[in-house]
Amino acid sequence: MARVFNFSAGPAVLPEAVLKQAAAEMLDFGGTGTSVMEMSHRGKAFIGIHARAEADLRELLAIPKNYKVLFMQGGAAGQFGIIPMNILGDKKSADYVNTGQWSKKAISEAKKFCKVNVAASSEDQNFTYAPAQSAWKLDPGAAYVHYTSNETIGGVEFNWIPDVGNVPLVVDASSHILSRPLDVSKFGLIYAGAQKNIGPAGLTIVIVRGDLLGKASAITPEVFNYKVQAEADSMINTPPTYAVYIAGLVFAWLTQQGGLAAMEKLNIAKSKLLYDYLDQSEFYQSPVATSDRSRMNVPFRLKSEALDGDFLKGAQAAGLVELKGHRSVGGMRASIYNAMPVEGVQALVTYMREFEKKHA
Ligand SMILES: *Cc1c(COP(=O)(O)O)cnc(C)c1O
Repeated sequence: MARVFNFSAGPAVLPEAVLKQAAAEMLDFGGTGTSVMEMSHRGKAFIGIHARAEADLRELLAIPKNYKVLFMQGGAAGQFGIIPMNILGDKKSADYVNTGQWSKKAISEAKKFCKVNVAASSEDQNFTYAPAQSAWKLDPGAAYVHYTSNETIGGVEFNWIPDVGNVPLVVDASSHILSRPLDVSKFGLIYAGAQKNIGPAGLTIVIVRGDLLGKASAITPEVFNYKVQAEADSMINTPPTYAVYIAGLVFAWLTQQGGLAAMEKLNIAKSKLLYDYLDQSEFYQSPVATSDRSRMNVPFRLKSEALDGDFLKGAQAAGLVELKGHRSVGGMRASIYNAMPVEGVQALVTYMREFEKKHA
């Protein structure tokens, strides 16, 4: 069967070149006679894979030396609890910005560990915009400020980095990390599940400033303790070896594409194709405030919900899959991560135009 254009929000499309390389190396990685899946994580071959992946990620994001890169497990949702366990220290509260389904989950988990101050929210308009900095009511005594820089479900993306003074800024960047350059030095901690824009599920990337290590509460499990993992090169237990390997191939692929500045240009062009079409159409509608529209996750609605089923069926037949929106938003959602080729977005717009003609 031919490959389709996969608009899944996650686990999501991977670069075809990466999948081909993984296939070619499946039975024999680099003359070892074994698959990466079969290797000891303590062996020379895997330690090389791990070190190269970290070095390439550091280079792509220009991560300063005083930040640790951790390859963890437990997903981004695991971090919702792992973060307060590690960095609350002796503080009793943290600030959270509520911009959608993922922020809400982060908030409810954090409430098990500390008092949560919701510093800003876009719930008043059904999470369709990013609250302006001027609306944030920050507490200078908070342990940290948490926000979700790209809401995968609502399709709302922060195009700016908040200024929160001396309080560490913590960001869930799961669904747009590596889609554009990022000034890491503005953050205390950046985290992302791999299965949106990096690689396979099972790997969680944490980039944490050195001064935030060593504050973990005594009940923190060793495998979720940032300092312990940092000192053990993320190998206090068996890391998700195959996911680290694939992520490493994706980092190398990104470097070959020209790095994050080049990816950003492509992502602007790809998302513009889709938004420009949505904006001129009477048939389709984008619910998100124009200035805060995500380049990665594009929700849209058809003129009538009754047509949703037909739209999806026709799309599937045209090789365009996973376009159904999240139930909390309805309609459609096209996730167009780094690995989605421009041809995929062009094919989607062509299909949408034909569907509109037929049903307008
Ligand atoms: C997918 C996603 C999560 C949850 O990731 P898991 O790996 O399933 O825990 C959290 N935050 C955002 C922004 C996401 O897109």
